[in-house]
Parts: sequence; C-alpha cells; structure tokens
Amino acid sequence: RSTIQKIAAGEIIERPSSVVKELIENSLDANAASITLEIRNGGKDYIRITDDGHGFNEDDLKIAFKRHTTSKLNNIDDIYKIISFGFRGEALASISSVSRVEVLTKTENALHGIRGYVENEEILEMMPIGCPKGTTMIVKDLFYNIPVRKSFLKSNTIEANYISDIICRLALGNEGISFKYIKDNKVIFNISKDNDLLTNIYILLGREFADNMVAISFESSNISVRGYVSKNTFYRSNRNHQYLYVNNRYVKNYDITKLIEEKYKSIIPINKFPVYVVFIDINPSLIDVNIHPTKQEIKFLNFQQVANALDKAIDQTFNRILS
Ligand code: ADP
Ligand code: MG
Repeated sequence: RSTIQKIAAGEIIERPSSVVKELIENSLDANAASITLEIRNGGKDYIRITDDGHGFNEDDLKIAFKRHTTSKLNNIDDIYKIISFGFRGEALASISSVSRVEVLTKTENALHGIRGYVENEEILEMMPIGCPKGTTMIVKDLFYNIPVRKSFLKSNTIEANYISDIICRLALGNEGISFKYIKDNKVIFNISKDNDLLTNIYILLGREFADNMVAISFESSNISVRGYVSKNTFYRSNRNHQYLYVNNRYVKNYDITKLIEEKYKSIIPINKFPVYVVFIDINPSLIDVNIHPTKQEIKFLNFQQVANALDKAIDQTFNRILS
C-alpha cells in the first residue's frame, strides 16, 4: 500500500468523525429510514453504523471498497447536479485503507445476508449469514497503519464531541428518519421518524433552543426557505449553532452567515450571534457544491436571489411577532 494512497485517504478521513459522516451519508443515500450509530472511545477503536437501507448484493459488495466505485454517477453531467451525498466513490476505499472494516448486509430479495471483512480496499472474506435487510458497517482501529495520524487525534472526549456534532447536524437535517446514537454503551438520543423539526431541536440542542426559536418560511418559483430562527439571544446563542442546509445537505456559506447576522442587527438589538436551523431548497443547477473535497462549502450562482428569499422569510416572521 503506497504512502501516497494513504495520504490521499487522509484527505477524506481525517478523524473518527469523518468516518461517521461518510457512512451515515451512505446510509441516507441508500434510503434508510432508521440509522443507528454506536461509538466507543471517541470512535478511535470502534464505530458501528447500522441502517435499514437497500443493502448490497454480492457483486456490488465485491467492488464497493475499490477506489472510484460509485453507483451514484450515471453520466458526467450528473456531477454538476448532485442530489445524493456521495458521488466520488472514495469514502469506502479510504476508510478501508486506514482501518479494519467489517460489513454485514442484505438486500430485500436476497435469501441470506453477507458478512465481509475488508482491509486496504480488498474484501478478505465473504460469508453467508442471517441478518435483516440493510447494512451494518463496523470500523475498528482507525489509523492502525498510520501511527503519525493516530497520534494527531485528540482525546476520546474531544473526538466524541466532533462525532456528536456530526450526528446532530445529520439528524437535524433529516426529519422523517430515525436516528439512534449510542456512546460508550449509553444511549445519548433516540429520535423517532415521526418527530417534527422543533421536537428534534429540543432533543438535540436543548430546551433553551426550542423555547427561543420561531418558524420562518418563504417560497418562490425556484427557491424555498423554511426552518427556525432565534427570536432573541440566550446563553448558548453562538455561531456553533447556525445550521444551514441546502437541498438537505449541511453546508457552510459565509455570505449567508453574514447576511443573517446583519439582518438580525437591523431588526432587534442583539449582542450575541443568532442561531438557526434553516433549509434552503433550490434548483441544483443554481449551486456549485463541488468546490471542496468534503463538500461542505457551496457557492450560489445567483446569491442575490437567495439573499432576497432569506430576507423576506425573516421579515415576514418578525413583522408577525413584533406587531
Ligand atoms: P459514493 O458514496 O461516493 O458513491 P462510497 O465509497 O461512499 O462512494 O460508496 C460506494 C458505493 O457503495 C456507493 O455508491 C453505494 O452504491 C454503496 N454503498 C455504500 N454504503 C452503502 C449502504 N449503507 N447501503 C447500501 N449501499 C451502500
Ligand atoms: Mg459515500
């Protein structure tokens, strides 16, 4: 295994939370309705993700851990209009080149499930087993073969916090899906697919948030905005809790951050940062998500249009609650 390949893997898989992000996004792409994450020791030793998605058939499983294997790109145009999370076919390859992976999977119509062990993009063993429809990935001993990278990891507590942030973002961004999070044998939360967004805000962020937020919504022909924004500031009101989703993907966009913050300053006296959980749905041809390998940053091709929609959404709500 060449050093260069291991370094390349490290670009996507930087720490345990990167494994969690990639695997949960795969579960979402596989149409899971229910996802469980279990970690031990900050995810350094053990990460398990179980979903009830469409699973792998035997032929797909054989190649899934090879680099550039993806079932999500049908033609090159697609890369500009991505609706699924993954599209490069690099995550499973990268994870398997820096850890020991065990996979259990079954498709709806298969007579039995398959258990496989993977190292360095190779399936070492595949055995028939009985298991329900869906996929479980168990990732052990992250960076066992790259001691330097391992030594750069933070304490178990800090690595677990990174993971908690990731699952919180994903759970907030995916109403209608059950998320269960188990940390060191303790259930941290268990979110039902029947919860609405405000209930999830309460469970994931706490009462302070749920009590201090107000709904916004706005719709025009090619953009819609919805979600919750804070109606005042409170103790934990800070930039760590500004959740922005574009076409259901958690993203960072500094222009939007600034826009919302400036907007707040013009409406209410505010001495802290506003918090929000905002979803923007927009025609995918009007965004560019491909500017960063981990795909968190996005660009709007027509920012003014987005700005106007957000502006109106916030104005409508504050006109209502301030009148
Ligand atoms: P990408 O997500 O970019 O396609 P990945 O390396 O993350 O690449 O995954 C490779 C392929 O393995 C996916 O395209 C998908 O077909 C399959 N796959 C990955 N995870 C799952 C899962 N949890 N359930 C079903 N299929 C999966
Ligand atoms: Mg993927």
